[in-house]
Amino acid sequence: MLLRSIPDPLFMCDVDWQLLYLNPAAEFAFGLKGMEMTGQPLTTIAVLSDLPVRAERETLPAELLLETNGNVYAPLCFPLLQGDKVEGWLLLLRDITLVKKRIHYQNEFIRLVTHDLRTPLTSVGGYANMLAHNAVGQMNPKQMEFIDKIGSGIEYMRTLVENIQDANRFDPENGFYQMSRAPADIAEVVQRIVKNYLIPAEKQALHLTTLLSPNLPIINADEHMIDRAVTNLIDNAIKYTPNGGTIEVGVEMVDDQLIIGVHDTGYGISPDNQKLIFKRNVRIHRADLPRTRGSGLGLFIVKSAAQRHGGEAWVESEEGQGSRFYISLPLSGENLIGHPQT
Ligand code: ADP
Repeated sequence: MLLRSIPDPLFMCDVDWQLLYLNPAAEFAFGLKGMEMTGQPLTTIAVLSDLPVRAERETLPAELLLETNGNVYAPLCFPLLQGDKVEGWLLLLRDITLVKKRIHYQNEFIRLVTHDLRTPLTSVGGYANMLAHNAVGQMNPKQMEFIDKIGSGIEYMRTLVENIQDANRFDPENGFYQMSRAPADIAEVVQRIVKNYLIPAEKQALHLTTLLSPNLPIINADEHMIDRAVTNLIDNAIKYTPNGGTIEVGVEMVDDQLIIGVHDTGYGISPDNQKLIFKRNVRIHRADLPRTRGSGLGLFIVKSAAQRHGGEAWVESEEGQGSRFYISLPLSGENLIGHPQT
């Protein structure tokens, strides 16, 4: 029979989730004997005991994973139909142990490399800075020009390393970042970041302003994550807004959510590209901006930071009309001060 040869554990149940059949892969993986299990509820099998199976429902949460004996399984459920009527269920446990291991090794590799790159970058930046301040003798204009180029190259690499590191660890699915929540005044965080961007914005003749609602609540948030998200949004707004434009960064309460908005009068984003840009490593190449540098990680970091706070990140935009990026932080659960940390 076809089901016997499926290499992943598979369980066939009646409509009330009583076992009718399990394949050899299931017997082997969980040390079960098919004959003995027939007629038993599916949830008597230890690894499946917490599975939220219901007679009326076939869908399982997409993020649900089952772990046992060092193996990781992603459960998939299908109805067995007789015409339109559900006569039973097929539960397939896709063995994703190898995929998880590879992701783990990849994350570990990125973690080590990004960590080790930071130290030499800091030291090279420090030496360039000393040269720029004539610490070892007066620099001539040509030397100053070269030092300036070294400085901006280092700054670009530092940002890139930081983005690779944060995209890796913030990732809601596979990231290992341990959130460190504390009472945070988001308006103050935003104000501080905007202040750092006043000079870069001025260099591009951009008008950078804030619009902060009064009496905003203090929330229990990871300030570093919020900082990295807002920094990436403002960085992008500066990158993708032509000289003379306006960028407005705002914080307000809408219903029971704190909303951070970064609005620009820049190039805008087409509806098709709006669906892609929050994915990891996605960059949209524009013929009119051939030399804009980036890694395609900024908006992934923004979305990850929002989602790890139980919120979301999204964009409203029209090509040629500018973009409005938003992060929502719900005033509930762990974002509330006094909520027990999990
Ligand atoms: P990067 O900027 O490094 O390419 P991001 O993940 O930050 O990566 O952004 C992904 C893409 O989204 C960019 O390549 C750019 O095309 C688009 N984008 C992001 N922010 C804006 C913005 N404010 N205006 C127009 N396009 C933007």
